[in-house]
Amino acid sequence: RNVKKYFPIKGGILKRTVGHLKAVDDVSFQIHKGETLGVVGESGSGKSTLGRVMLRLLDPTEGDIIFDGTDISNLSRGKMNPFRRDMQIVFQDPFASLNSKMSVGELIEEPLLVQTSLSKQERKDKAKEMIEKVGLRQSDLEKYPHEFSGGQRQRISIARALVLEPKFVICDEPVSALDVSIQAQVLNLMKDLQDELGLTYLFIAHDLSVVKHISDRVAVMYLGRLAEIAPKNKLYDNPLHPYTKGLLSSIPVIDIEGDINNKREKIRLGDDLPSPANPPSGCTFRTRCPLAHEKCMTERPELIEKEEGHFVACHLYT
Ligand code: SF4
Ligand code: MG
Repeated sequence: RNVKKYFPIKGGILKRTVGHLKAVDDVSFQIHKGETLGVVGESGSGKSTLGRVMLRLLDPTEGDIIFDGTDISNLSRGKMNPFRRDMQIVFQDPFASLNSKMSVGELIEEPLLVQTSLSKQERKDKAKEMIEKVGLRQSDLEKYPHEFSGGQRQRISIARALVLEPKFVICDEPVSALDVSIQAQVLNLMKDLQDELGLTYLFIAHDLSVVKHISDRVAVMYLGRLAEIAPKNKLYDNPLHPYTKGLLSSIPVIDIEGDINNKREKIRLGDDLPSPANPPSGCTFRTRCPLAHEKCMTERPELIEKEEGHFVACHLYT
């Protein structure tokens, strides 16, 4: 609720704070148990920062993070510990996130060693069970990360994240570094594991086609704020925000299920994302919006519920 994450910008020889990078700027939403909420935005839109703040890997500057009825936004490290097991993250780069000196078995057992009091044998049994759940073999537990392909390494990262039986998993662009031919396999695995283990996902991507397959609802972020959030079908069939329309129409979208969708109204996204350190006044999207008008220069549009469950932040709807 009203979550902000501002990073100080230091300048001058005295390294004083000269401004703030508003990576996440007043974001509110809910995730329902068992659902997947897709979060889409360009690099620099704040989506990874939002994910890290939700898990308290970063402290919020302001706002409340409520997990399963408990406000965790101000909990100390010690008080956070029982929640750590329930919330995990799968990172984008399976090459960087797996320690190359540890065997796959050690990698999967490590969270159990740190977070539980299971015996060595119990940990080994869990690792065996988990490696098969992600579609690899028990014999792979003896091997090292470099012996695997990118897709297989991401399976290992997923096993590591899920071995603690979390309730909530943030997937931060987990397939972006993988070959397109492998992406669907890993997405399908994640979907199957979600159903089997009753997981709730926040699924971050820079591309609306990736989250279409896996999400129940989708949120679109722009410069640290939510532009639009809606049930999946409403967002893809009837996007309201000019930015969402642009994301859907700037290229003919061939989505992961194979539909070719190029019949949308064309809105081209001109220019690059402005700097989050110096966002435009009023509507932060106005510098790229073909429908910008006077009000957009000065007034910031609030997120309003336009239709049931379909929220948008744009003056065209107020
Ligand atoms: Fe475009 Fe104005 Fe809507 Fe912003 S508020 S998206 S500038 S029309
Ligand atoms: Mg990111």
